[in-house]
Amino acid sequence: MRFSTRAVRTGEDSDKGDVVMPLHLSSTFSRKKVEEFKYEYSRTGNPTREAAEKKLASLEGAKHGLAFASGMAAETSIILALLQKGDHVIASDDLYGGTRRLFTLFRKFGIDTTYVDAKDSSRVKEALRDDTRMVWLETPTNPLLKLCDIKEISDLTDAFVVVDNTFASPYLQRPLRLGADIVVHSTTKYINGHSDSVGGAVMTDDIRLHEDIKHVQNAAGAILSPFDSFMTARGAKTLSLRMDKHCENAARIARYLEKHDKVKEVIYPGLDSHPQHDLAKKQMRGFGGMISFRADPKILSRLKMISLAESLGGVESLIEHPASMTHSAVPKEEREKIGITDDLIRLSVGIEDAEDLIEDLEQAL
Ligand SMILES: *Cc1c(COP(=O)(O)O)cnc(C)c1O
Repeated sequence: MRFSTRAVRTGEDSDKGDVVMPLHLSSTFSRKKVEEFKYEYSRTGNPTREAAEKKLASLEGAKHGLAFASGMAAETSIILALLQKGDHVIASDDLYGGTRRLFTLFRKFGIDTTYVDAKDSSRVKEALRDDTRMVWLETPTNPLLKLCDIKEISDLTDAFVVVDNTFASPYLQRPLRLGADIVVHSTTKYINGHSDSVGGAVMTDDIRLHEDIKHVQNAAGAILSPFDSFMTARGAKTLSLRMDKHCENAARIARYLEKHDKVKEVIYPGLDSHPQHDLAKKQMRGFGGMISFRADPKILSRLKMISLAESLGGVESLIEHPASMTHSAVPKEEREKIGITDDLIRLSVGIEDAEDLIEDLEQAL
């Protein structure tokens, strides 16, 4: 089955004939005999969560999928399962702030992280050590939308390559096919897509990695609740429709902003001016719904419809100021060094009519 068919159909087959996998809230499950059971306790296994896990795995083209209480819970579970004291990690320097905070937390357990500008694969190569166990990549990054070459980096190393695929979504990019070992998502963003559920997911083709992470899912217990599993599976059904519209709207808005004399720079992987436009064409099926641009941050309070809010990937357009919002924890000097200046604005383009979004930006600018 193809992508949109899998998005709609996979995981919905309940044995009672429901067209939609029902919401199974039961915390425990009875059995006929002690040794015969499918489900025992809901943390360990739940039919609604398993349905969502199957659907998410199929969207990523993966053999196995696991759903967690948040993107951060998914990331924590990967690290707990696969790393130990003395291990070294290489990570993209322009990493999601929460992921960086998590690696800082794991430093006290003896896990050391080196940050490199992964858009240049040779930087990853130079940072490899004998004890490097994991390479953690994000592409495109947040908020500067830098890309890294997943295939080239995966070919460099035997260490586990983990790709945070949140910004692209599985519709636009399949890291496992490009050689990554594990894909992680904040399903809170494009996969659920309606700004009404927080969740995370981990996908892999490797049964041993899957079993190890599943062990932590049960042992540490940061599972996606049945209700959020239901919401996430429901949201994921329209992923291809939404992503096509996000991409179409973002391309129009990027071109509009690029021509505007109050806008100094537009960063969007779909523009010829993006330094890695060719890699984006090679590695992604479309260029996504995220745009960053440089303009007077006063426009943020003049917008009438576009919401000033953190997060991204929902049907509604959200705009934010990284320096004082999502990336305020990064010291100013470091921010400026990597390009998160005070005039940088990040726009998560929704699926409203592009004309309405452009009119709102126009009156604000
Ligand atoms: C939001 C986000 C996360 C964290 O996910 P939560 O669901 O908020 O825990 C991780 N990575 C990226 C790229 C994100 O955008």
